[in-house]
Amino acid sequence: TFNFSAGPAVLPEPVLRRAADEMLDWHGSGMSVMEMSHRGKEFIGIASKAESDFRKLLAVPDNYRVLFLQGGAMAENALIPMNLLGEKTSADYVNTGEWSKKSIKEAGKYCKVNVAATAADRDFTYVPAQDTWQLDPNAAYVHICTNETIGGVEYNWVPDTHGVPLVADMSSHLLSRAVDVAKYGVIYGGAQKNIGPAGLTLVVVRDDLLGHALPITPSAFNWKEQADNDSMLNTPPTYSIYIAGLVFEWLLEQGGIEAIEKRNIAKAALLYDYLDQSRFYSNPVARGDRSRMNIPFRLADAALDDAFLKGAQQNNMVQLKGHRVVGGMRASIYNAMPVEGVQALVAYMKEFERTHG
Ligand code: PLP
Repeated sequence: TFNFSAGPAVLPEPVLRRAADEMLDWHGSGMSVMEMSHRGKEFIGIASKAESDFRKLLAVPDNYRVLFLQGGAMAENALIPMNLLGEKTSADYVNTGEWSKKSIKEAGKYCKVNVAATAADRDFTYVPAQDTWQLDPNAAYVHICTNETIGGVEYNWVPDTHGVPLVADMSSHLLSRAVDVAKYGVIYGGAQKNIGPAGLTLVVVRDDLLGHALPITPSAFNWKEQADNDSMLNTPPTYSIYIAGLVFEWLLEQGGIEAIEKRNIAKAALLYDYLDQSRFYSNPVARGDRSRMNIPFRLADAALDDAFLKGAQQNNMVQLKGHRVVGGMRASIYNAMPVEGVQALVAYMKEFERTHG
């Protein structure tokens, strides 16, 4: 079965097999990873290998800390202003869709939010060009969502925020492409797309941005306190970290980010090329801003949606229904989706078009 879920999403099969093999007895320890103390030498080894492999994959500079937290990206939407505001009272946000909107709403509880640019005028189908952004030089940070999972809009460039820290929600494309980490102040994301099981949240934060938290910030979500304790101020999501570590090893075996990015470009091109030559299906996103990970598309006649989904299921392709906000279909093709899955989808779409078009 090919699973096109937007998240939690498909994981690499070798990772799941290895986790199954190690489930009852991890490396002769007599324990499942789920049963280990997070302070024991076995788990400390697992966690530090996971961190060093993650650093290797993204070439994270030494002056950045990698935190393994809980709460999901949604919790971080509140924790970002809490951790970064310091003496400042406002932050800039760029609105490119549903996840930007959620970030804006949450941050508005803690600070003044300036929407520096919005794609509302074209129904969130593009990234507003940098020269239209109205940035405030006094903002504590500039927040963007670099891949809108619902709308299928992805940044293919890094904004210049003139020294104000750039904060990016990369939940749905982290580890799918190379990132110049040094251009960001903070990168964060939930794990349940390209990284591992839900329950783990990654925060990559530049050293100098630690230590500015509002006094009301809960200790478990205070990035400085977590950094000082190697993300073990309290019990971390141990099993999710372990699986994420196996995914990092799998990625390194695949040839790292460069190799996986090439594959992702080719997979996305297969589907977009087909959509673009078809008059039966369409994708609304500006070509230069299309997501490689989440590809929404519509059928010319929405009355055929149910038949399309049913046929897909019969052909072992699941979770293709689009998000309720945009309707239609959505194919999420994360790292672990093999090219054969995209080929099978395109073949099915062709056949459906032939018989219903
Ligand atoms: N941001 C983006 C881009 C997402 O895709 C999601 C979840 O799908 C979230 C934030 C929310 O993440 P979580 O459910 O881990 O809180």
